[in-house]
Amino acid sequence: MKKTKIDWAESSWNPVTGCFHDCPYCYARNIARRFSGGKVLKFGIRTVLNDPVIISGKISPYPYGFLPTFHKYRLGEYREKKGRNIFVCSMSDLFGEWVPDEWIKDIFEDCKAAPQHNYLFLTKNPERYIELAKKGLLPSDDNFWYGSSVTGPKDFYTWFSKDYHWFLSVEPILADLGKMDSDAQKPEWIIVGAETGRRRGKVIPAPEWIDKIRFQCAHYDIPLFMKSSLAGIYPVPLIQEFPEKLNRKGETGAGVC
Ligand code: SF4
Repeated sequence: MKKTKIDWAESSWNPVTGCFHDCPYCYARNIARRFSGGKVLKFGIRTVLNDPVIISGKISPYPYGFLPTFHKYRLGEYREKKGRNIFVCSMSDLFGEWVPDEWIKDIFEDCKAAPQHNYLFLTKNPERYIELAKKGLLPSDDNFWYGSSVTGPKDFYTWFSKDYHWFLSVEPILADLGKMDSDAQKPEWIIVGAETGRRRGKVIPAPEWIDKIRFQCAHYDIPLFMKSSLAGIYPVPLIQEFPEKLNRKGETGAGVC
């Protein structure tokens, strides 16, 4: 559990870490490798840890490096905490096809046991939301927000039901997203950010791509959150809006980074 540097949530919580997507811009993979405790345990493709692993006298947050790991001992960490917006599993894709339903169910149950918080989920595999919904396993609680992570126009950015809160995270934006289908259901929130780090081939977004998102958000009345990674790329002030139900600070409109 930790206060987050992610500017659109107040805390991040990582009961599951590790991911088999192979995004070239992934920051989580580098962090997991760097803080794996000096050595990465080699066994266990999907490991459940009931207790933390101690390596060289310290808790290793990523004992299996970036292999999917369920840190079951982290359940309950937020039960007694004051209400906040929590990004669940910033160090993995909880809805990757390799994640067992049981892990997801355990995490949903833990979220339900602490209803004072808003829970923000994010995936590159939103089809899993649909699968879970069909099985009756996707909670539609008002404090559960399901995000689709997209980087370009080919990615999935339509939604399947008005029963669930849905948002889009366009991060890192790697291409012009184009126009939203005017007849399709719209997300309740759009977050947009640029790639960070120094990767060879890093994409610097064109301000016009951001403009296009901005104008569509204004047109469809969708709150827009421009991440601070856009400072210096997009002319300030950056717009940092939240949907009303996620707005814990009472902010009503644009902020300045
Ligand atoms: S989905 Fe997220 S955690 Fe997984 S590789 Fe891509 S950026 Fe990293």
